Amino acid sequence: MEDVFDYIVIGGGSGGVASANRAAMHGARVLLVEKARMGGTCVNVGCVPKKIMWTAAHLNHCYHELSFYGFENLSSPKFNWSTLKKNRDEYITRLNKLYFENLENNKVNVLQGNAKFINKNTIIVDQKKYVGKKILIAVGGRPLTPNIPGASYGINSNDFFELEKQPKKIGIVGSGYIAIEFAGLLNGLGSDISLFIRSKKILKNFDELISDQIKKFLLDSGVKIIENSNIKEITSSGDSKVIKTEQAKFQFDEVIFAIGRTPNTDTIDIETTGIKLPNSGIVNVDKFQETEIKDIFALGDIVGKYELTPVAIAAGRRLSDRLFGEKKDAHLKYENIPTVLFSHPTAGTIGLTEKQAIQKYGAENIRVFESSFNPMFYAFSNNKITSYIKLIVKAVDDIVIGLHIVGDASDEILQGFAVAINMGAKKSDFDLTIAIHPTIAEEIVTLKKFRTGQINHKDNNE
Ligand code: FAD
Ligand code: NDP
Repeated sequence: MEDVFDYIVIGGGSGGVASANRAAMHGARVLLVEKARMGGTCVNVGCVPKKIMWTAAHLNHCYHELSFYGFENLSSPKFNWSTLKKNRDEYITRLNKLYFENLENNKVNVLQGNAKFINKNTIIVDQKKYVGKKILIAVGGRPLTPNIPGASYGINSNDFFELEKQPKKIGIVGSGYIAIEFAGLLNGLGSDISLFIRSKKILKNFDELISDQIKKFLLDSGVKIIENSNIKEITSSGDSKVIKTEQAKFQFDEVIFAIGRTPNTDTIDIETTGIKLPNSGIVNVDKFQETEIKDIFALGDIVGKYELTPVAIAAGRRLSDRLFGEKKDAHLKYENIPTVLFSHPTAGTIGLTEKQAIQKYGAENIRVFESSFNPMFYAFSNNKITSYIKLIVKAVDDIVIGLHIVGDASDEILQGFAVAINMGAKKSDFDLTIAIHPTIAEEIVTLKKFRTGQINHKDNNE
């Protein structure tokens, strides 16, 4: 006899764990299957270890300001990669355990194993079958590798977190979130970084303020950017790896690919449910996370929207509230989602970019408030990190439709403003808010000068 559950969740990552816990809290009999470490990408090879590495680099940056504030006898600090890795790994092991304990406390049945479908309401794990009245697919994604000769000599973001030694000279391929974050933190920890990008632009999906300024910060901090780099091949000799482009050869200790991710949906025999998977591997869902097959749901990185932990968590919780709680209309609205880039300095964004706002409302119908300034932290510094703000407002009703920040603490600043923007705040509400002085954030409520939208004549692919 097969074991029957109200809810089977495949994948113990951000979305799966959140949804399983919430369903069990509503009284559902839940089975969660996870094939690897509990917590998924974010906890094990994503947000968490990345933020720890980012913090190490940030501390190094702060250390350089100490002497300006009068601290003396600063012995020359030496960074020990092994110590950081050991502490980081131990911290993550504690988190893995906490995830298990939470699930257990909520009476979620947890199974360690690789789940595959055998029909639309049955999965198989280690040759045993389990029936779910409802099934959630939350299997996340994996890093992509480019289709070029010698690609196996490079490593991906998962492998990066396994490195026992700090590579001194690194080639990073890509221009999105991971490439830019890794370039910044490794540079901050003293490695020599070359970033290979396919065009002239990084962070194409962000507002130009962010893509332009972060590129400038990378260059100013010594990161080499190889633009329009058409990589032909990677070769290896001894301990070194060589990137061959059309124009030149570059030698490194390590090559890291960060060129996007692909859903794990090709590994679970999904077609046995009747779901048709497009080539992208993305599962199509409606606003209630429902797939084309009744009682099968999908969320998180596999649905091709925002690949962010809080998005997967929110979608998971709302789904369980709807299916097993009283909230019959609960669903995640995929708009005004704040996101932060853990670069050096950080950058935060919510709402429309200027380009999107122009496309939607017309250049004359938006007001763009901009400001740049040096935070007081750098009062004495010889390496001032300027902060930049862009606030986009709809002229007709004064509603704030986009906020883009580059600079120290933008990661922490954005969250509160995201609440206001989600509530439909107007520029006049920002103006009425008393500033907190002296802070970076106060600049956001004291913006005065504005212009209409400007179309950047540079081709976006440059
Ligand atoms: P995942 O967290 O990937 O979980 C899926 C789980 O399913 C995995 O544990 C996997 O082992 C399991 N699984 C797969 N197949 C099966 C199977 N057949 N049977 C059983 N289990 C299976 N987001 C942020 O918001 N902020 C950040 O700072 C951030 N930094 C990131 C840094 C990096 C380097 C990376 C790679 C990602 C980062 N992200 C960040 C993105 C974030 O990690 C993901 O959006 C999030 O983890 C997606 O959650 P998920 O539940 O969809 O999938
Ligand atoms: P992204 O989608 O952010 O960026 C991938 C980039 O790789 C693209 O911008 C593309 O740039 C470039 N690229 C694609 N193919 C190639 C190729 N063959 N050669 C060179 N460059 C190529 O993916 P990431 O892997 O960086 O991250 C995956 C997702 O994880 C992100 O989208 C994000 O949602 C999430 N994440 C979130 C973080 C956060 O919240 N702070 C941090 C890290 C990840 P182009 O088209 O311009 O050439």
